[in-house]
Amino acid sequence: MGWPHRVKLGKAQKTGGGQLISSRRINITIIILVILIGSLLWLPGFAQESFGDKRSRRELFPIDPKTYLMGRFRPDTTRDFVLLPAELSGGRRTYLRTSVAEAVGRLIQAALKDSVPLWVLSATRSYDHQRAIWNSKFSGARTSMGRNLAQEFADSTERCLALLEYSSAPGTSRHHWGTDVDLNSTDPAYWRSGEGVVVMKWLQQHAGRYGFIMAYPPDREHGYRYEPWHWSYQPLSRPLLRNYYRRLITPSDLDGFLGAEVVRRLPWWEWYVNGVDEGLR
Ligand SMILES: [Zn+2]
Repeated sequence: MGWPHRVKLGKAQKTGGGQLISSRRINITIIILVILIGSLLWLPGFAQESFGDKRSRRELFPIDPKTYLMGRFRPDTTRDFVLLPAELSGGRRTYLRTSVAEAVGRLIQAALKDSVPLWVLSATRSYDHQRAIWNSKFSGARTSMGRNLAQEFADSTERCLALLEYSSAPGTSRHHWGTDVDLNSTDPAYWRSGEGVVVMKWLQQHAGRYGFIMAYPPDREHGYRYEPWHWSYQPLSRPLLRNYYRRLITPSDLDGFLGAEVVRRLPWWEWYVNGVDEGLR
């Protein structure tokens, strides 16, 4: 039924049928108003959930979102996590989300085709694994880039800031998500060596095509130091960070590790979690 028909009927309003038509018109107006108001209420939520990404919650989260983002699970027994084939990891037992494992496989194959050596050094790390690393560096049982931070810094804030140059606090690491990999070596000297320079040049030219972005490039104002080895699979990690992490993880969640009360007072979100390359935010 088109508009001209309706206009024609409108002329007959003074006759008996007019009453019926105008009440039908009111009904239609009410229905349109309900749809309009409904969509206005629904739209902001929709925009927040899926801005820049159409992936559903089930696609993004293999388990409860908060448990997942905090790394409080075992990747070897969790849906959508796979053990990386030995030829990609040099035989190290490390896990990734299925789509990330496939993408890094394609990346490494392409590199090898160009005679560029590339392998995954480390991928998913659980909260417990990250806490073990963090606590041992905080207590001085283990060094951080060759420095004993417990001996160097009696002050716990200074010690945490030094630790945060290269390590994430438990619950704030991108390695919890199974979307990020450390490639070849975490020694800055390797990336200044002949081989490291060749690998980096290749990655800068090709990694983007496979969905990977360097998470901590040089020349950021705050946050972790430059990490040439740390690359993130953007199609999954970007929506996790921008649509969910900030809303779900609060300072009170940072607990249960040495110096947690110090980290909670630092700008842990702005400098560290969100202090990544803008392509990942
Ligand atoms: Zn890393």
